Amino acid sequence: MNTLKSELPGVRLADTWSARPAAQQPDWPDPTALHNVTEQLAAHPPLVFSGECDALKERLAAVARGEAFLLQGGDCAETFDRNSADTVRRKLNTLLQMSAVLTYAASMPVVKVGRLAGQYAKPRSSPTETLGGVTLPTYRGDAVNGFPFTAEARVPDPERLLRMYQASSDTLDLVRAFTKGGHASLDQVHEWNRDFIAGSPLREKYELIADAIDRALHFMRATGGRPEHFDDTEFFVSHEGLLLDYETPLTRRELRSGRQYATSGHMLWIGERTRQLDGAHVEYFSRVDNPIGVKLGPTTTPETALRLIDRLDPDRQPGRLTFVIRMGVDKIRDLLPPLVERVVAEGAPVAWVTDPMHGNTMGAPSGHKTRRFDDILGEVSGFFEVHRALGTHPGGIHVELTGDDVTECVGGGHDLDFPDLPERYESTCDPRLNRSQSLDLAFMVAEFFGT
Ligand code: PEP
Ligand code: MN
Repeated sequence: MNTLKSELPGVRLADTWSARPAAQQPDWPDPTALHNVTEQLAAHPPLVFSGECDALKERLAAVARGEAFLLQGGDCAETFDRNSADTVRRKLNTLLQMSAVLTYAASMPVVKVGRLAGQYAKPRSSPTETLGGVTLPTYRGDAVNGFPFTAEARVPDPERLLRMYQASSDTLDLVRAFTKGGHASLDQVHEWNRDFIAGSPLREKYELIADAIDRALHFMRATGGRPEHFDDTEFFVSHEGLLLDYETPLTRRELRSGRQYATSGHMLWIGERTRQLDGAHVEYFSRVDNPIGVKLGPTTTPETALRLIDRLDPDRQPGRLTFVIRMGVDKIRDLLPPLVERVVAEGAPVAWVTDPMHGNTMGAPSGHKTRRFDDILGEVSGFFEVHRALGTHPGGIHVELTGDDVTECVGGGHDLDFPDLPERYESTCDPRLNRSQSLDLAFMVAEFFGT
């Protein structure tokens, strides 16, 4: 067992994971340079605090109990050069707009969690990539190497971990500023939704919901009510906890309770490619007290789900564990029921969330990676159907989106088509819903709640 420096003098962390096999880690070329960087990270302040992580765990406990809905979204991969205040603001606004619609439709609180302020590292299905006869290491996210297809850019550089920390810190500052002080009051967010509807080909359909929200806001005002979070919004951040060389030095132990937290984000999740039961990631996640997620793809057996629960939530603590299901539109109705049935029979209080993106990725004729809006909506619909049939709670959605008008997914209210993709394809990894497709999704998912 290694011991690690912690933020607090004299308090040492127990590193039980570094000796285990860790999938999807970069081949850092220079161990001394890496060591130098992790020492610096260990001396940096935490980005988030244990009390905030505990608050999110409480909110997710409500999701697990069927009393709240989770909206988790943001880029597949954040990048250092598209991290401006405007981009972050538009992404946040989009999430807040979706949340307003879903809150009304679900008649329950929506827990808002960005896939941002730390989403800089990517697992890849192949370690190399070949273009025009040239083979190079794959891009693994700005935290590791560069996106340009050159040998130089693709060399992993640990200094990038420091940039990731700084970029995450900058984004968090913006998140904290934009969600406080009235910028994102419910009235304001509803006005933005009105603007979106005015320009939408599906305006007549959406106006029914917007009018109902209007009436609800008028009613609240008439009663003199000003609900909690009317002006200030509670917003959390999350990312895939992939790079253990980044997460480990930012893991800190609380002096009083002795509990360890990942302080790089409120919630971290384990990806589909790193959830090996004996691997380093599961071990690391078992040792931190944050709320955590695990992605479950189509190969997941009920046995595996149960063993993950035993490893990651042995105390069966509501809010601790969220299963993020990503089966694909054709498989969700067959593969999800046996998982839910076994987990429920076991009495494990997990939150069930759908990621309708990663099982529905396809190649466009132009070679772009894309997703059809209808497949995404179809998987969410299947997810709701399964839970309704079993009497369990469809706890939320986890989506890849941006607030910008990119052209990466096809379909949606404005009916983007394959030839539109090259126009504004900016993702360095998976295709994201653009602003209006994201809002389309929220208005259409609203109907699944039976409003
Ligand atoms: C992702 O969320 O971008 C991702 C890689 O997902 P998964 O682990 O489910 O494939
Ligand atoms: Mn992705």
